[in-house]
Amino acid sequence: MIRDHATPDSTTARIPIAVREDAIQRQLDTMRAQLEREAGIATAPRDAFKRPDEVRFTRSQREHTTLLFGGLTWKHDKLIRGAWEGLGYKCETVPSPDVKAFQLGKEYGNNGQCNPTYFTVGGLVQFLQNKRQEEGLSADELRERYVFLTAGACGPCRFGMYEAEYRLALRNSGFDGFRVMLFQQSGGLSQSDAENGLQMNLDFFLGMLNAMMMGDLVNELAYQIRPFEVNPGETDRVLDESMETLYQTMRARRNPGLEGALESFLSKFGVASSTETLLKFVDNLKTSYYTEALQDVRRRFEAIPVDYTRCKPIVKITGEFWAQTTEGDGNFKMFDFLQREGAEVLVEPIATWINYMIHQARQKIRDRRGLREGAAEPAAWRVDQQLKLEMNWRQRVAKLNFAEAVFRREYDRMREALGGTCHALADQPELTRSGHPFYNSRAGGGEGHLEIAKAIYYTNHELAHMVLSVKPFGCMPSTQSDGAQSAVVSQFKDLIYLPIETSGEGEINAHSRVQMALGEAKFKAKDEYARALAAAGLPLDEIKAWVDARPEWRNPLRPVSKYNGFISKGANFVLDAAHAIRRERGMSAPAVHAAAAH
Ligand code: SF4
Repeated sequence: MIRDHATPDSTTARIPIAVREDAIQRQLDTMRAQLEREAGIATAPRDAFKRPDEVRFTRSQREHTTLLFGGLTWKHDKLIRGAWEGLGYKCETVPSPDVKAFQLGKEYGNNGQCNPTYFTVGGLVQFLQNKRQEEGLSADELRERYVFLTAGACGPCRFGMYEAEYRLALRNSGFDGFRVMLFQQSGGLSQSDAENGLQMNLDFFLGMLNAMMMGDLVNELAYQIRPFEVNPGETDRVLDESMETLYQTMRARRNPGLEGALESFLSKFGVASSTETLLKFVDNLKTSYYTEALQDVRRRFEAIPVDYTRCKPIVKITGEFWAQTTEGDGNFKMFDFLQREGAEVLVEPIATWINYMIHQARQKIRDRRGLREGAAEPAAWRVDQQLKLEMNWRQRVAKLNFAEAVFRREYDRMREALGGTCHALADQPELTRSGHPFYNSRAGGGEGHLEIAKAIYYTNHELAHMVLSVKPFGCMPSTQSDGAQSAVVSQFKDLIYLPIETSGEGEINAHSRVQMALGEAKFKAKDEYARALAAAGLPLDEIKAWVDARPEWRNPLRPVSKYNGFISKGANFVLDAAHAIRRERGMSAPAVHAAAAH
């Protein structure tokens, strides 16, 4: 019997508090069980989902096990596949998920997830079901022959729960125990031990990073050219051929390594591994292996004749990471739709996201200057400790500055190799400065402040007529930025901004909303085009005839200048041509000014 705390006696006072609380908890549990029995609501033990014990993917299984992955565009996926096959893995990609996959995700996954979870989880289940039906593979055979690899993270949005969602849906759909492996987005360059079937080491991540950057650039280039191609379908044909070449390039890549006597010698001093890492890293910075392949691709694209005198509004795509990347039902095939409706689509590179993660990590370190996790602040007179802390802080910031500089350099190197017409990466400090007043840049999860910041960035720099934000149904960070976006729209009067909620249904509604906003963007583009022609002081027919007679002006990679107050390629191109024609005829130049390059 526990005595009332209000009337302690000497016996109770001698019992330790922890023991007393334990006794109270037991008493409470007994009473709760008794009351539930009496009320007829006694519950059976709950069958909570637990992470299943998985069969490991070991080195000896590598020969007969296929790495399954996907989730980006087919271009990115194909190049990553090439990079990993080059390292000796068997690979296969899960196709871009469709509405059927979404329904499977809903059927077998948890309720209340965000749209990308349903699509991607359902996509994996669909892939396995197809293998079972079409190739007659049993669940056991699939378990044995495949491993699914996906990115993992922790944080405030549902991305941290994807792994559990995959496992739950696999269990519910009859593929219990199917192996799901994670690489952590912020986990560094080595995330596995030597006996693992998958070696997540420098080679693995370098291959993936190079593939992503090349995928970004070729993807953007194709979206730039397609609306202006003279012969319909030519861009896609060249794109297919180029992707096959780049895929073979990735497959054939071999990073340098230490061998033989040198390796044994350095091993004696325990520096073989670090020397090899350095060697690979430096080689990656110096090699022209990837840039030469991109130059070859550039020559193929240069052969596509274009008509840049066409007037087309530019639509910048922003939104949640997966929704703005996928090219299928997950965003209502929005890019195709926009192109069919006469827009030039400005897609978002994955490299922006990587750059953002570096930037956020550096920001976090800066915010914690002078502090040590779990330790007290050094006393004012302990100058030695304070100095040590400061040096440590500076080193960490310097490392991330270096990582960012290297990453941007590599991206720019590839961009130049491909002709230099793709956009440079948006400046992260500028994005933070412009987005922070509306959305706290320290708030993580999803795209954080990026959604807001990109809308401002692309408007301020006159890079798009309209910003279309694809926001998945059930996405918490996207919903937050939606709230803040109304303040942005009220301050940036020229911004045509449209948020679209993506889901497994509602495509017609979304398309018709986009059509309406695009009408406004087209009007803006036409107005600007008329101003460009007025400034050119020449009739359009005359400009077209002059351009048609000069093949170099029909080359899609001929750089088009950017003039202040003109966004579309058509308007800027007409002004470029007017400059050239008037110069040729000894006339004065049009009264327009070139903008700073981006
Ligand atoms: S950002 Fe949104 S849509 Fe993407 S995983 Fe997180 S909650 Fe889901």
